[in-house]
Amino acid sequence: MSRINILDDSTINKIAAGEVIERPASIVKELVENSIDASSSYITIEIENGGKDLIKIVDNGRGIPHDDVNKAFMRHATSKIERVEDLNTLNSLGFRGEALASIAAVSKVKMITKTADELTATEIIINGGNIISKNPTSGNTGTQLIVSSLFYNTPARRKFLKSNQAETMAITDLINKLAIGNPSIRFKYINNKKTIFETTGDGSTINAIRVIQGRDIVDNLIEISYKSPYFSVSGYIANNNVYRSNRNFEYIYINGRYIKSSNLMNIINESYKAIIPINKYPVYFLNFEIDPSKIDVNIHPSKLEVKFDEEAAILNEIGDYVRGMLMKKSLIGRYTPSK
Ligand code: ADP
Ligand code: MG
Repeated sequence: MSRINILDDSTINKIAAGEVIERPASIVKELVENSIDASSSYITIEIENGGKDLIKIVDNGRGIPHDDVNKAFMRHATSKIERVEDLNTLNSLGFRGEALASIAAVSKVKMITKTADELTATEIIINGGNIISKNPTSGNTGTQLIVSSLFYNTPARRKFLKSNQAETMAITDLINKLAIGNPSIRFKYINNKKTIFETTGDGSTINAIRVIQGRDIVDNLIEISYKSPYFSVSGYIANNNVYRSNRNFEYIYINGRYIKSSNLMNIINESYKAIIPINKYPVYFLNFEIDPSKIDVNIHPSKLEVKFDEEAAILNEIGDYVRGMLMKKSLIGRYTPSK
């Protein structure tokens, strides 16, 4: 198992480091991605009041060894890369070593963590970046992180947050994306003490979509699978019976990482123009596999936008494929009406 190391300055300068914590959803994203990186098979996410008062993540992953617990909260401390070249073979979601430090600086954090080899767990409490206590405690293998009183020490930032409802919506959308993208992990999501959903973790994408998005969507999906020299893609695209008035149902993953690519979305949406009403957006769940050395995940600390080589070729191919698929299902004619 890799231990946590502090990155050197030249690496830090190359990995587009920067503040990642803007709102509760960004905290949830960082923490759940840490749980995924720790090979968890069961992740519980609990929030209260839009995450402003409580964000609690419990995983059954590999945990952090007692002696590394303080380091985990230091800036640029990561067990995931050692040098910038490691990004070419990156198989984790995180790599900047900043999230825990940034989160602990602006909230009250309690972590309880235990590795499989340890007999006792470690509990650490950090308020506003200051370690309050660190003690052995009992606990299961895995990591529990409780973030409370977000931005309590930066009231201006707390005031800047949106309503509880808007923050909850952002968190829900994010958890939906992580859970559907990781069907082998069982996700449980609790909001204000009410269970919103629990996926099965049985590895089936369609089962995860059914739990989260419901039958209405699942019954109208077309399964797709395509391989080209540049990439392969599998997943589901909706027929013309379901569409939405926002773009939250356009799920794109590259090598398991949920991403936003306006170019990819636009080319796919183009194919739907003829079959869904104007100002509506399609529903799809697409998993792309692309050689990691051809992708740059290092664009922005939020890590949502990616850049990839041969983008134009990939865009053309995927556009043609989706159009071809909709034609095959006779949803669109051979000649799409000109706009
Ligand atoms: P990064 O994910 O970029 O490495 P973080 O600040 O998010 O940086 O986490 C720092 C380190 O703490 C990680 O590299 C990992 O070793 C450890 N860590 C954080 N969360 C967990 C977790 N849920 N389970 C196991 N280890 C974790
Ligand atoms: Mg991380």
